[in-house]
Amino acid sequence: MAYRGQRPQAERACGRHAAAEAVSACVGCGAALCDPCQVFDGPEPSCRDCAAARRGRRRRARVIALGAAGAALLFAVVAIRVTHWQYSQAYAARVAELAGAIEQAPCDEALQLELVRALESSHDRDGERAAWRAYTGRCGVGLWRRVTGRLKAPE
Ligand SMILES: [Zn+2]
Ligand SMILES: [Zn+2]
Repeated sequence: MAYRGQRPQAERACGRHAAAEAVSACVGCGAALCDPCQVFDGPEPSCRDCAAARRGRRRRARVIALGAAGAALLFAVVAIRVTHWQYSQAYAARVAELAGAIEQAPCDEALQLELVRALESSHDRDGERAAWRAYTGRCGVGLWRRVTGRLKAPE
């Protein structure tokens, strides 16, 4: 409320333009703003300097967020690769171990089934086929037939 004799707020001069009437004040620094000096990049008016500073802060925050997202993505990709590598290394070790055991007991059905399952788990379809071919070549198609229900040896 303006008291008698006092100029109402709206008649204050703009901080930059003494001849222009201020219509608002900057939400950041409180500077009096005439209509052309108001910048709205939110609900409250700002002066150009405060608006530019806020835009700069937002841009930096975006860059930081983007960097963090990129780093997180990179980390996830590396983690998946490492996990996958560890996984295939673990299966490779298991397959080598089973292949060694099968050399000692060439027609052991339990070992053969374990070998095939390890190859299957590591998505090594060629290895799986080769393991079956080798086994049926040595020991006949008995186990192959029982496991797969197929009569013919694997090709
Ligand atoms: Zn300001
Ligand atoms: Zn102005």
